[in-house]
Amino acid sequence: MKITFLILFFFPIIIFSQNTNGFFNFSKDAFYYEQMSKWKDKIYNDVDCKFETVINNDSIFAFSAKGYFFKELYQLNLDEKERITKIELFFSVHNGDLEEWFPYKYPTQISKIFKTLGNPNITQENSTYHPVNYIQDAEYKFEKYHKWSNVLYKETEVILEVANLKTKIPIRSKKGKIKKYETKEYGYISNRAKGNGEITETEKELNTTIKISDGFIKLWKRNRTELIGLLGQKRFNTSEAWTDINFLTAMFTIKNTNDPKQYFECFRNIATILYDTDLTKFFFDDEKFTYTSLSEGTIAKAVGMNNSRSVELLIDIENWNNSSYLDKYFIMFHELGHDIFDLEHSDGIRLMTTNKISFDDPSLLGEMIFEMMFSVFKKVKD
Ligand SMILES: [Zn+2]
Repeated sequence: MKITFLILFFFPIIIFSQNTNGFFNFSKDAFYYEQMSKWKDKIYNDVDCKFETVINNDSIFAFSAKGYFFKELYQLNLDEKERITKIELFFSVHNGDLEEWFPYKYPTQISKIFKTLGNPNITQENSTYHPVNYIQDAEYKFEKYHKWSNVLYKETEVILEVANLKTKIPIRSKKGKIKKYETKEYGYISNRAKGNGEITETEKELNTTIKISDGFIKLWKRNRTELIGLLGQKRFNTSEAWTDINFLTAMFTIKNTNDPKQYFECFRNIATILYDTDLTKFFFDDEKFTYTSLSEGTIAKAVGMNNSRSVELLIDIENWNNSSYLDKYFIMFHELGHDIFDLEHSDGIRLMTTNKISFDDPSLLGEMIFEMMFSVFKKVKD
């Protein structure tokens, strides 16, 4: 069986929402934007020096908040029908110990897993684990490993594995020399559906989002030289750091796929963070999304197009509800292209040529989003 896998990263906004209200809320507000850039710079350095020997740099999602440094790596193993057969998650903390973190992220503390599920079927000490990863020779030594062979998790029967490991990470100076080693704790949690498994709607949507990001990255890399010329090397580096698949997937994720406003926010984040283009150049007032009834087959319509002050979309509630996530993504970016950038169908931009989606490969949409933004961005910078 051919196993493909995807690495998924999420912004664990919820975890910190009480303490760092708004910190991760991408906003055109300059303060947050600056904070975010600083934050990104900081962790990128950190990741560069820390993970060389542990996990492929590209496979790490990391963030810090309030003195914490926390990383997580998701791997989804899919079968040939793109059904998820296994979800694996690695996470680590700098401060506090893993036990403390479990309750934030997972249903329960390790000790409570024991309480709820009883003794595991298998417990091992110092066992070796080989992740399915880009790095074939990667190897982890679990200090303690527990496996429950038949557990109900999210209403699905799963095989649940929980483990922890410690490893020494080199801390490097700015010149790249190893200054010291730091011992880090990692947690590992894996669940594998029994039988055929069930892929949830959320997991399908994430799959779509990743493919959109993939398409976007492909063209971003292809146009690197021109982007550097337009943005300047320094600003380009900031943007480029965000095109790491992990960060980009987070940026392209629409948490509530039924909420039109979230597509707008995603649109704005892409323009602001990646292309350094502030949308207030294009409109000043608030954005408005109104549910209504439109002519047959129309999902949404930009009515703010000829009003440069506002963004206003009408959404046909019935068509909207019957549309797939990819349809919604496409139509929202298309209509926002009209409304925000005043683009026409005849402007020679693939995303704008038709308001009907005619493909089912999400990576094509990612390419189209790149092209539209890039084309507008070039005009703005000229
Ligand atoms: Zn149109």
